[in-house]
Amino acid sequence: MPDPLRRLFSRLDGGPVTLTAEERRDLDEDWEALSAGGLVVETTPATVVECASCDEPHAASVRSVPTAGLPTRWFHHCPSVGAVQEDPEELRRWAVRVPALGRALTGRDCEERVPELIWRLGPVGATARVGWLVAGWRGRTGIADAVPELLAPNAVVFVPCRLPAVAAWGTVPPLVVPLIDVLTVTGTGIEWNRSALAACLPPEPVAVLARDDRPRLTLSPGTDWKDVTLVVEDHHLELSVGNARHRAGYEDLGLADGRTRAPHTAWLTLLHLARTGELAPADDIDTKSGTLKNNVSKLRAALKRWTGLAGDPFHTVHRLEPYRPRFVIRAADTLKPA
Ligand SMILES: [Zn+2]
Repeated sequence: MPDPLRRLFSRLDGGPVTLTAEERRDLDEDWEALSAGGLVVETTPATVVECASCDEPHAASVRSVPTAGLPTRWFHHCPSVGAVQEDPEELRRWAVRVPALGRALTGRDCEERVPELIWRLGPVGATARVGWLVAGWRGRTGIADAVPELLAPNAVVFVPCRLPAVAAWGTVPPLVVPLIDVLTVTGTGIEWNRSALAACLPPEPVAVLARDDRPRLTLSPGTDWKDVTLVVEDHHLELSVGNARHRAGYEDLGLADGRTRAPHTAWLTLLHLARTGELAPADDIDTKSGTLKNNVSKLRAALKRWTGLAGDPFHTVHRLEPYRPRFVIRAADTLKPA
């Protein structure tokens, strides 16, 4: 990428950019590519200029002076030399439009998720990854805390030029790729440099639902775990509260193994609970990848997340006592014996 464009992208890290006539000249060779996709559009002319007519650097307001029968003329006032006429060409300005950059890359409108900061680009090229664009990140912290989808396993976050420090994202950084490394400028626009893009992306993860994409229930206010009945099948469960029924698979609850997508041992723990009504520490449960305690923790978190109910779904237990649910649970007729 040519240096003037690199400088422009570096400025986009800091927030919205308006280009002056001089900066436009700097980008001369790439101007057509920038304007073709609507990435730069002319905006209102400058109303303040730096005075270049005296030895004291100072800013000055620009005033128009309409004159009958002549084109409008523009002046600024300098304390040393008086009225200084401005060339209207030098007052022109162009706004850089980040959403148009997203459209140039994906062929679609992108969705502004946080004003002037985060845009969702959608699928990137032919990959299953979901692209995000974060411009104007400089000086911010906790960006990914505000939009956790940035941390989804299939997400890739593009920044204009520089890699932000981890603190800019929050506690965990997403997969971040600087656009200047994966773009190419053609005579007619800006495009992905596909080989560079492929080289920046690690192998694609198994498609998993982002945490926030999982179905969630809306239970009537005041619902408590004791009002809940779960009927459990091999791969699904049905939750009922009064006459309301909700069905979900183990994957909807986030209880699939990250690699194989088979039921996680926490789901097997739930099946065991459905068959026996409680979970004693001595029960012979398949706990290859974790202890009973870990599985109950995962189950507790999954049930709370899915139902939106705040309280603990399990009774408080002392060491060596069996875990007992506060909800009613039973095995469906179809549930295979252990
Ligand atoms: Zn001056």
